[in-house]
Amino acid sequence: MSRVLPTPEAFDAHMPLVVIGAGAAGLCAALAAKEAGVEPLVIERDTVPSGSTALSAGLIPAAGTRFQREKGIEDSVELFAADITRKNHAQSDPTMIATVARESGPLIEWLADRYGMPFDVIDNFNYPGHSALRMHGLPSRSGRELIDRLRSTAEAQDIVILTNCAVDTLYVGPDGTIRGIEAARDDGSRERIGCDALILACNGYGGNADVVHRHIPEMADALYFGHPGNRGDAIQWGEALGAELRHLGAYQGHGSVATPYNILITWAVIMEGGFQINRDGRRFCDESCGYSEQAAEVLRQPGGVAFDVFDERIAAVARQFDDFQTAERNGAVLRAGRIEDLAVALNVSPQALITEFDEVEAAKAAMGRDRYGRRFMPGERLAPPYCAVKVTGALFHTQGGLVVTVDAGVVRKDGSRLPNLFAAGGAAAGVSGDEAAGYLSGNGLLTATTLGRLAGRSAARLIER
Ligand SMILES: Cc1cc2nc3c(=O)[nH]c(=O)nc-3n(C[C@H](O)[C@H](O)[C@H](O)COP(=O)(O)OP(=O)(O)OC[C@H]3O[C@@H](n4cnc5c(N)ncnc54)[C@H](O)[C@@H]3O)c2cc1C
Repeated sequence: MSRVLPTPEAFDAHMPLVVIGAGAAGLCAALAAKEAGVEPLVIERDTVPSGSTALSAGLIPAAGTRFQREKGIEDSVELFAADITRKNHAQSDPTMIATVARESGPLIEWLADRYGMPFDVIDNFNYPGHSALRMHGLPSRSGRELIDRLRSTAEAQDIVILTNCAVDTLYVGPDGTIRGIEAARDDGSRERIGCDALILACNGYGGNADVVHRHIPEMADALYFGHPGNRGDAIQWGEALGAELRHLGAYQGHGSVATPYNILITWAVIMEGGFQINRDGRRFCDESCGYSEQAAEVLRQPGGVAFDVFDERIAAVARQFDDFQTAERNGAVLRAGRIEDLAVALNVSPQALITEFDEVEAAKAAMGRDRYGRRFMPGERLAPPYCAVKVTGALFHTQGGLVVTVDAGVVRKDGSRLPNLFAAGGAAAGVSGDEAAGYLSGNGLLTATTLGRLAGRSAARLIER
């Protein structure tokens, strides 16, 4: 029940700034507002802030950082913006792309230098579509570490996070100014809190099956691997307020979730020279296009499953991710010394698997392309022992949402601004175009963190005025 109602006669309390959602977007917004001298109140449905941020690998793409320079990696804001634009087939707003690309480097250095978060840049594999190594992560390569560090940083700044509290109502004045919110606590009590500005950081609608069915029918029956508390409140409030919504069919999928274990298997296993086969032992597409569009490809295969096939060298790269280590501990990663034995372990045709291996390895030796157009390199050759994981495709999060300005202000359908409403992260329209294939790795946390910080600053400026 997400409602927009006229302003009541009184509120129980008043805060200058209310932020709905304590994921990466909400906490970056709160930190930025606090720095600018405005007291934020963050309201979070869960007992402990988690969100999809906690489920992620916590990798944030950023261009021109000192971490890149220290490793001799050449990159620029323009190159990053061009990569985002190529992946989304120029379907997203170029000004917004330029903004998030420009803000990305300073964002990482802000979190690292001001708040002591130990980021570094991944330099032993690259993600599809990035023409420079620019994925920055924390030591465990996990979103749990990212959200825990953001939360403890916010707490150290005396930012109040009201947990076990779900906002369901926005109160609005006749000119569209948000006057306050109403939230339900877990114990059944309700709070009406007035505010001077509101930031929506409550992500998209991946946790709302009906809305997914309406906007992304191809993933309606897929495993939803994001946070269940993201139920599309931002777009429902936005609709009621006359806000412009865009790219509602866009989403981040992933074609490599270990099944039945439900553990993310990093796409490094593919990008380093691995490939996917279906239950018939046959490859079915160019896996290097991207993991997001691969979700639907995998779901189209017999039984809606596939196998990631790689080797021990690649497993060593993947082991930097906590998730991969968990998958190994749980027995999700199968190993065999010969291709025939791997085929038996996977219950696929040995002849089919040998044929696929032969084609892939020949393409690597020739530095050529395979029948799907995938380009392989000689350094990616596979050697025994071979590894495989049974995987399925999943919906991770939605990328469509409220159209915002470059300072994260929410825009109405007629192009005018809602006076004091801001949005960031999955609540805002992303930079991934209209479909899954437009998602460049890291677009999720890129817009959560950069737009979050911008929203916090902009809201603080408005309130100070
Ligand atoms: C498995 C997985 C792996 C991923 N890996 C990566 C990656 O490595 N790099 C990358 O860039 N992106 C990745 N993503 C995407 C990324 O996690 C999201 O884009 C990002 O976390 C969104 O941040 P957010 O703050 O907008 O939302 P969230 O982190 O989901 O936070 C939103 C918060 O709002 C709360 N909330 C919602 N509605 C209400 C309400 N009405 N009242 C109060 N609280 C509410 C929710 O409980 C939640 O805590 C991944 C996603 C998944 C699922």
